[in-house]
Amino acid sequence: MNAEAATTAPFGTVFAPRMATCEYRDGAWQPWEMRDTGPLPMHPAAHVFHYASCCFEGLKAYKFANGDVRMFRMDKNVERMRLSARMLCLPEPETQTLDAMIRGTVRENDDHIPSSPASLYLRPTLIGTEPNIGKASSKSLEAMLFVLASPVGDYFKDGVSPLKVIVDDESPRSTPEFGMAKAGANYAQALRTIDAAKRDHGADQVLFAPGDDAQETGAANFILANDREVVTKDLDGSFLHGVTRESILTIARDMGYAVSERQIGVSELLDFARTGEAGLSGTAAVLAPIGEFIYRGESHRVGDGGAGPNIMKLRDALIDIQLGAAEDKFGWLTAP
Ligand SMILES: *Cc1c(COP(=O)(O)O)cnc(C)c1O
Repeated sequence: MNAEAATTAPFGTVFAPRMATCEYRDGAWQPWEMRDTGPLPMHPAAHVFHYASCCFEGLKAYKFANGDVRMFRMDKNVERMRLSARMLCLPEPETQTLDAMIRGTVRENDDHIPSSPASLYLRPTLIGTEPNIGKASSKSLEAMLFVLASPVGDYFKDGVSPLKVIVDDESPRSTPEFGMAKAGANYAQALRTIDAAKRDHGADQVLFAPGDDAQETGAANFILANDREVVTKDLDGSFLHGVTRESILTIARDMGYAVSERQIGVSELLDFARTGEAGLSGTAAVLAPIGEFIYRGESHRVGDGGAGPNIMKLRDALIDIQLGAAEDKFGWLTAP
């Protein structure tokens, strides 16, 4: 499938033909290589299959009208993968190696990068591969790192439609410490709650707010906005420190919004939503407006239920930088 055709397929279902891989064994990372995207030979006893030693990243490369390719905040994703690896007791990829593997994957798949606003989504992944089911309480001494690439369309190609979000103040998404690791196990743990919310309420996402602390949804951070301020949860170990979140806050400060990072309780959240706006931030959807919250079975409309003007203003400002339509004044773009 060519790059442009791939952008109409569901997100993450089409893959570019080449991927970078690197193996860790005998106490060292081996030289990385490029290979065809396809099945990896793996022993069924591999640590990841049993004890969930897996973390990943997600970032995008954009191709501008003049053919230039730029990646958005790659350094942040590399740094975060190293953090996740440490938290999972997996061998930490070297910064330079992971950097080179991502760049290499983008360069080798140049013909498969669709023109912006579509992009090449990059998925660096690290897994424990030691074939040993006796290692329930010890780390994998072998690992594989790979960078998978997937051409993806604009998330909202049929227009931005506000999301319906269940606020759940009972179920945790992860743990107070482990939420900040981009670990596959966090997703597995949250799935049952999200699946029930979709089935029972036709919801798009669940906002996890255990202990009256609105953290984030299954795969995106959460922000509130109005004409004056932007509010989001302060950084702690319980949730994923999104690159999009940090970029939005930087842009908001630059535009003159008062930015506060603090705990947000459910009643404050619903109160704010009556006249304000809410959105979800993450690499895939950038910043998506929320139109409705459901809390304990009751519906709470956010503003007038449409895409809020401040959320859209912040979203557009970030997208303009990502697509090269605005000056890259924070130095966020890098060439492969
Ligand atoms: C990846 C992720 C995000 C968004 O992070 P970005 O760096 O903005 O893409 C938010 N929450 C969770 C749980 C995630 O895994």
